[in-house]
Amino acid sequence: MQARTIAILGATGSIGTQALDIAGRYPERFRVSCLTAASSAEKLFELVRRFRPDTAALNTEPDRLPEDVRFCQWFFGPDATVRALLAAKPRDALCAIVGIAGLDAVWHALDVCERVLLANKEALVTGGSLVTAKAARMGVPLLPVDSEHSAIFQCLQARQGNPVKKLWLTCSGGALRSWKKQDMYAATVRDVLAHPTWRMGGKITVDCATMVNKGLEVIEARHLFDMPAEKIGVVIHPQSVVHSMVEFEDGAVLAQLGMPDMRGPIGYAMGFPDRLPYDATPLDLAALGHLDFAAPDHDRFPCLKLAVGALKRGGSAPVILNGANEVAVAAFLRERIPFGRIPEIIDAALQSVPAGPVASIADVYAADRAAREYARARL
Ligand code: NAD
Ligand code: MG
Repeated sequence: MQARTIAILGATGSIGTQALDIAGRYPERFRVSCLTAASSAEKLFELVRRFRPDTAALNTEPDRLPEDVRFCQWFFGPDATVRALLAAKPRDALCAIVGIAGLDAVWHALDVCERVLLANKEALVTGGSLVTAKAARMGVPLLPVDSEHSAIFQCLQARQGNPVKKLWLTCSGGALRSWKKQDMYAATVRDVLAHPTWRMGGKITVDCATMVNKGLEVIEARHLFDMPAEKIGVVIHPQSVVHSMVEFEDGAVLAQLGMPDMRGPIGYAMGFPDRLPYDATPLDLAALGHLDFAAPDHDRFPCLKLAVGALKRGGSAPVILNGANEVAVAAFLRERIPFGRIPEIIDAALQSVPAGPVASIADVYAADRAAREYARARL
């Protein structure tokens, strides 16, 4: 077997490092030809030494480049990721940059890659049908990496042409799942980053605590699977063992289960259609004893409804939601605003920033800028 070339964009992050764990286990399958990160230079140097890519990129140019990483072609600056990707022209690109900052990389990966492995949900929340239309036009599959979407994608392999009645996304409930409403407003960064089942980057962990993450995932599912918002349900499932489900017309519901470990969905996308064993903890249902499910509490977690509302409104509303959320979450992580301000800022932005049609990527960025300006002013 000839090793497939793959770019890992956002290589130093939670998803990026776990993807490299899988790549490292299968050197005969994967040749990592491009590695990129925003600013963690030392961490990226280590990965470059180990995986020896053709190209590498950092947004922030380091003071000096160590001698032993100079064998590859380096790119620096705000568009360094895209330049490194285009120079490497890998067969696959794993897009694991966080936020709308990763949209450009997804967009360009569709030009040069055979497959795009998508972790960067914000690229689909903001780029929406522009991204899926381009993927279809270029004949490039978008393989989901987000665990819920991977689960649905896996269940859909058994579809055999039958219509789908509903998609069910499971949701851990995040770090504040069992908090009282009056205590949530002042939850600290430390409280919020203590996710019960997943270890992830800071931004998505905050998104889980507000549950905007599940809203972003409903929007992501709408685009990935071409399902209307009404046919995408959310159910709280604290153990994160059932990763999501597909309901068919005859009432049958297919689910994908496993212990929570992102290397499962990452490896499934990387190896698709092959499954790549790693040191996964086997699922022991008898030891678990029970799996719990509940309806989401929209009173304590208003962000889920805000996101689904933005999806139903359409046009640039999801872009506004996303932009306001990114600004609010960054401010919360810098301890500039209390946790409870995050939903308030998103809600205010959705009410005040005019939403319009989105016909081009330029429209996406214009709506994102307007949302950010508004949210920053509200901080
Ligand atoms: P992270 O913060 O751990 O890592 C982000 C990576 O992107 C880093 O390598 C960082 O250097 C790079 N990056 C950040 N800003 C950038 C910019 N402006 N330009 C170029 N590179 C930039 O994030 P993560 O938790 O790995 O999440 C990555 C994406 O995957 C997010 O969209 C997230 O929603 C999604 N996701 C993550 C998980 C998870 O378990 N971590 C699960 C599902 C989906
Ligand atoms: Mg997810």
